[in-house]
Amino acid sequence: MLKFDPEKCLASFHGRASKVRRAIMAIFIENKKPLSVANIILELKSRHFSTINKTTVYRQLKFLLDRQVITGVEIAGSKHYQLTHQHPQGIFFCTHCQKIIPSQEKFKMPSITKATKENHFKVNNFSLIFLGICQDCQKNI
Ligand SMILES: [Zn+2]
Repeated sequence: MLKFDPEKCLASFHGRASKVRRAIMAIFIENKKPLSVANIILELKSRHFSTINKTTVYRQLKFLLDRQVITGVEIAGSKHYQLTHQHPQGIFFCTHCQKIIPSQEKFKMPSITKATKENHFKVNNFSLIFLGICQDCQKNI
Protein backbone atom coordinates (compact mmCIF):
# COMPACT_ATOMS: atom_id res chain seq x y z
CA MET A 1 0.00 0.00 0.00
CA LEU A 2 1.23 3.49 -0.81
CA LYS A 3 2.31 5.53 2.15
CA PHE A 4 -0.15 8.32 2.76
CA ASP A 5 1.43 11.75 2.81
CA PRO A 6 -1.01 14.39 4.07
CA GLU A 7 1.24 17.25 2.87
CA LYS A 8 1.42 15.84 -0.66
CA CYS A 9 -2.27 15.17 -0.54
CA LEU A 10 -3.03 18.77 0.44
CA ALA A 11 -0.58 20.13 -2.15
CA SER A 12 -2.32 18.13 -4.88
CA PHE A 13 -5.54 20.05 -4.30
CA HIS A 14 -4.10 23.08 -6.12
CA GLY A 15 -6.28 25.39 -4.09
CA ARG A 16 -4.57 26.76 -1.04
CA ALA A 17 -4.75 24.47 1.94
CA SER A 18 -6.25 26.62 4.63
CA LYS A 19 -5.27 26.33 8.26
CA VAL A 20 -8.66 24.82 9.07
CA ARG A 21 -8.28 22.21 6.35
CA ARG A 22 -4.83 21.28 7.65
CA ALA A 23 -6.23 21.01 11.18
CA ILE A 24 -9.10 18.79 10.01
CA MET A 25 -6.66 16.51 8.17
CA ALA A 26 -4.50 16.30 11.30
CA ILE A 27 -7.56 15.38 13.35
CA PHE A 28 -8.41 12.53 10.97
CA ILE A 29 -4.82 11.30 10.88
CA GLU A 30 -4.46 11.31 14.66
CA ASN A 31 -7.84 9.80 15.51
CA LYS A 32 -7.72 6.88 13.06
CA LYS A 33 -11.45 6.29 13.38
CA PRO A 34 -14.71 7.64 11.97
CA LEU A 35 -15.61 11.06 13.37
CA SER A 36 -18.91 12.90 13.45
CA VAL A 37 -19.14 16.62 12.65
CA ALA A 38 -19.66 17.23 16.40
CA ASN A 39 -16.42 15.31 17.15
CA ILE A 40 -14.53 17.37 14.56
CA ILE A 41 -15.86 20.68 15.90
CA LEU A 42 -14.89 19.70 19.47
CA GLU A 43 -11.37 18.81 18.33
CA LEU A 44 -11.04 22.05 16.33
CA LYS A 45 -12.16 24.08 19.35
CA SER A 46 -9.43 22.46 21.42
CA ARG A 47 -6.91 23.44 18.71
CA HIS A 48 -7.31 27.20 18.79
CA PHE A 49 -10.25 27.32 16.41
CA SER A 50 -12.59 28.47 19.17
CA THR A 51 -14.88 30.39 16.80
CA ILE A 52 -15.21 27.64 14.19
CA ASN A 53 -18.73 27.22 12.88
CA LYS A 54 -20.57 24.24 11.41
CA THR A 55 -20.82 25.79 7.94
CA THR A 56 -17.04 26.08 7.63
CA VAL A 57 -16.57 22.48 8.79
CA TYR A 58 -19.19 21.19 6.33
CA ARG A 59 -17.57 23.16 3.51
CA GLN A 60 -14.16 21.64 4.32
CA LEU A 61 -15.64 18.15 4.60
CA LYS A 62 -17.36 18.57 1.22
CA PHE A 63 -14.04 19.63 -0.31
CA LEU A 64 -12.33 16.51 1.07
CA LEU A 65 -15.27 14.26 0.13
CA ASP A 66 -15.32 15.55 -3.46
CA ARG A 67 -11.65 14.60 -3.78
CA GLN A 68 -12.22 11.24 -2.09
CA VAL A 69 -9.70 12.03 0.62
CA ILE A 70 -12.38 11.15 3.14
CA THR A 71 -15.43 8.93 2.93
CA GLY A 72 -18.71 9.13 4.79
CA VAL A 73 -20.06 6.26 6.83
CA GLU A 74 -23.40 5.99 8.57
CA ILE A 75 -23.05 4.66 12.13
CA ALA A 76 -26.23 4.06 14.12
CA GLY A 77 -28.06 6.72 12.12
CA SER A 78 -25.40 9.38 12.37
CA LYS A 79 -23.03 10.47 9.62
CA HIS A 80 -19.33 9.99 10.30
CA TYR A 81 -16.25 10.70 8.20
CA GLN A 82 -12.90 8.98 7.92
CA LEU A 83 -9.80 9.12 5.76
CA THR A 84 -10.42 6.93 2.72
CA HIS A 85 -7.04 5.19 3.00
CA GLN A 86 -7.52 4.51 6.73
CA HIS A 87 -10.99 3.13 6.23
CA PRO A 88 -11.26 0.27 8.72
CA GLN A 89 -13.20 -2.71 7.42
CA GLY A 90 -14.76 -3.27 10.80
CA ILE A 91 -16.07 -0.84 13.36
CA PHE A 92 -17.31 -1.72 16.82
CA PHE A 93 -19.97 0.70 17.95
CA CYS A 94 -21.04 0.75 21.61
CA THR A 95 -24.78 1.41 21.70
CA HIS A 96 -24.46 2.42 25.35
CA CYS A 97 -21.75 5.15 25.29
CA GLN A 98 -21.54 5.65 21.47
CA LYS A 99 -17.83 4.84 21.49
CA ILE A 100 -16.34 3.79 18.14
CA ILE A 101 -13.49 1.30 18.09
CA PRO A 102 -11.96 0.55 14.69
CA SER A 103 -11.07 -3.11 14.21
CA GLN A 104 -7.42 -3.90 13.44
CA GLU A 105 -8.54 -7.15 11.86
CA LYS A 106 -8.42 -7.61 8.09
CA PHE A 107 -11.57 -9.49 7.22
CA LYS A 108 -11.39 -12.33 4.75
CA MET A 109 -13.05 -11.83 1.38
CA PRO A 110 -14.34 -15.35 0.43
CA SER A 111 -17.82 -15.21 1.94
CA ILE A 112 -18.22 -11.62 0.75
CA THR A 113 -17.07 -12.61 -2.75
CA LYS A 114 -19.66 -15.41 -2.83
CA ALA A 115 -22.47 -13.11 -1.72
CA THR A 116 -21.51 -10.36 -4.15
CA LYS A 117 -21.18 -12.83 -7.07
CA GLU A 118 -24.69 -14.06 -6.39
CA ASN A 119 -25.92 -10.47 -6.65
CA HIS A 120 -23.68 -9.62 -9.66
CA PHE A 121 -22.24 -6.76 -7.67
CA LYS A 122 -18.73 -5.38 -8.09
CA VAL A 123 -17.37 -4.44 -4.67
CA ASN A 124 -14.70 -1.75 -4.36
CA ASN A 125 -14.65 -1.59 -0.61
CA PHE A 126 -16.72 -2.71 2.34
CA SER A 127 -17.20 -2.04 5.99
CA LEU A 128 -18.84 -3.93 8.79
CA ILE A 129 -20.40 -2.22 11.76
CA PHE A 130 -20.76 -4.36 14.86
CA LEU A 131 -23.27 -2.99 17.34
CA GLY A 132 -22.87 -3.97 20.98
CA ILE A 133 -21.49 -3.00 24.36
CA CYS A 134 -17.87 -1.94 24.88
CA GLN A 135 -15.61 -3.34 27.58
CA ASP A 136 -16.02 -0.31 29.89
CA CYS A 137 -19.79 -0.36 29.66
CA GLN A 138 -19.92 -4.12 30.27
CA LYS A 139 -18.27 -3.47 33.65
CA ASN A 140 -20.58 -0.61 34.55
CA ILE A 141 -23.99 -1.86 33.47
ZN1 LIG B 1 -19.55 1.80 25.91
